[in-house]
Amino acid sequence: MNTHDFVDWHSHIWLPEHLGPEWGREIDSHYTHVPSEHGTPEEHRAAMLASGVSHSVVIALTSRHFDLDVPNEFVAEYVASSDRLVGIASVDPNDPSAVARLRYAVGDLGLSGVKLSPPYQDFHPHSDAAYAVYRAADELGAVVVFHQGAVSHRRGVLDNAQPVLLDRVARDFPELRIVIAHMGQPWPHEVVPLLRKHPNVFADLSARCSRPWQLSTILLSALDYGVQDKLLFGSDFPTFDPAEHLRALLSVNEVGQGRPVPQDVLDAIAYDRPLSLLGLGA
Ligand SMILES: [Zn+2]
Repeated sequence: MNTHDFVDWHSHIWLPEHLGPEWGREIDSHYTHVPSEHGTPEEHRAAMLASGVSHSVVIALTSRHFDLDVPNEFVAEYVASSDRLVGIASVDPNDPSAVARLRYAVGDLGLSGVKLSPPYQDFHPHSDAAYAVYRAADELGAVVVFHQGAVSHRRGVLDNAQPVLLDRVARDFPELRIVIAHMGQPWPHEVVPLLRKHPNVFADLSARCSRPWQLSTILLSALDYGVQDKLLFGSDFPTFDPAEHLRALLSVNEVGQGRPVPQDVLDAIAYDRPLSLLGLGA
């Protein structure tokens, strides 16, 4: 197995002031092991080095609904510092300048994709505003990372959050490369048929390694449908550490569901998902 391709497909950087009045507090109350000030570029760099990650995907996040903004420029500046980093912008479809911002982020800042989150940003995945962003991403060849799953905060909009809503998007934009973050938790079984139907839809396992029973179920379900090759390793740093997440993935069979996930499948998820799989990197 070539550990040169140990990619962390889902990580963040931020400064406390990016998180706005509500979100920083939310992180501090839900994830007491990593206070919100632990998302600096320096901490990211140190965690990636210590874990042996070969490349990491660093994701911005903006949301008018939660008044938070991890700026695209901040992510772009950090990822420009190393060829082991790939940056994903974020735009909010409720912002009338979302398409212009995406063009700027990809064309000028050199970012490779865009993160969207219907439950964080309070937009419906089938809305006209969202479709304008998908069209631009499709044209620009930008990867779209969806946080399509639950949000812990009370004001998160779960009506917009179900993974199955992305089926229409993937049908309408068959060339668009989509990553469903966190395996669409708590609806991972809705993600499986999307992975099976759509060649350009992938899912990352970020934050799932902290819940071994759930992770084990996800992996067995993916194996049942033959979609395990579309699963990407991700930590969701700074909330979780890539090294700990890797250990949890590789030891998932300790949960003991009576049917082990083959070791080569686990190794491949960790070490055989090169950036080129989604057309990223050099
Ligand atoms: Zn994330």
